[in-house]
Amino acid sequence: MAHRVTLIAGDGIGPEVADAARAVVDATGVAIEWIEREAGAGAIARAGDPLPEDLLLSIRETRVALKGPITTPVGTGFTSVNVRLRRTLDLYASVRPVQTMPGVASKYADVDLVIIRENTEGLYSGLEHEVVPGVVETLKVFTEKGCTRIAEYAFMLARRDKRRKVSAAHKTSIMRMTDGLFLDCCRSVAARYPDVSYEEVVIDNLCMQLALDPAPFDVILLENLYGDIVSDLASGLVGGLGLVPGANIGTAAAVFEAVHGSAPDIAGKDLANPVALILSAALMLRHLGEGDAADRVVRAVVGVLSESRVRTRDLGGTAGTRAIRDAIVARVRGGAS
Ligand code: NAD
Repeated sequence: MAHRVTLIAGDGIGPEVADAARAVVDATGVAIEWIEREAGAGAIARAGDPLPEDLLLSIRETRVALKGPITTPVGTGFTSVNVRLRRTLDLYASVRPVQTMPGVASKYADVDLVIIRENTEGLYSGLEHEVVPGVVETLKVFTEKGCTRIAEYAFMLARRDKRRKVSAAHKTSIMRMTDGLFLDCCRSVAARYPDVSYEEVVIDNLCMQLALDPAPFDVILLENLYGDIVSDLASGLVGGLGLVPGANIGTAAAVFEAVHGSAPDIAGKDLANPVALILSAALMLRHLGEGDAADRVVRAVVGVLSESRVRTRDLGGTAGTRAIRDAIVARVRGGAS
């Protein structure tokens, strides 16, 4: 029976990279019934909402979605569509594997990190107000439940994937209560996983250490904002945003998307690197129990990046999105590119 997957192309470069990811998944031969739903700029024009109800209904039903990036309109009153989607579906764990890709020039060889970002709390709770004119406030909300379940997820993943260490980031010297609760929960969970090493790193020091040498790190566990920032930093260590995939995992659904945004500066120009969303689609295939197909997709991406000269501008090449798509599709099907 075909897997049913909600496909959200998104906007900006979204439709281009989503087209590529879909073509690569289809080339594996895994039967997927794609249910396309619109979000972002197009959905505002059609439904007056960048995150229409029919999209949420579809994800609740299929429980799996592949999603291109969505622009957050500035100054229109819309809150981030991506934050809303994660909060509405309670997709609490953002999982972002950051790995060096063979053939891609980067500052470090053999980077192999997993960023685990809490997706629903912290400063992304959206609770902001004006106290008096000229004074504004935003609330950083942590709950014991939220901190414990993200820590559980990180340790579960570390044990499952045979990783050696979890590093929890914090700034308890300044945010004693919020980051303090986060660490308390991490420690309680760590005590139940004696087979996984655990350490705590101050967030600013973590950024410095990652830039100097990422090798000592393995699974990095972060609250929402720190996770957002460190994901981009870590992407920079392996060649940029065009390469790093992601998964947003909840108890009722999982939404697979790249770390990068809608890149309006290159949208519609056949310049976007589709690899990050293609690798996100590989994570999705694994989630669907299609591990062999996922492996074939990853091998095809690695093959194209390491052996062929087909690469996008962000990786120093001249090929377009469609050319990369076709090269990866050809390798997945078993042909040469
Ligand atoms: P961005 O990730 O869209 O772009 C940052 C830089 O990286 C740009 O120079 C862009 O050209 C480049 N880039 C990004 N993805 C690329 C790719 N696949 N190939 C080649 N180059 C790529 O970040 P931004 O400019 O800060 O955000 C643009 C919009 O995207 C904003 O509205 C933001 O809110 C939204 N956004 C959405 C998501 C999401 O949908 N999950 C994530 C981040 C940002």
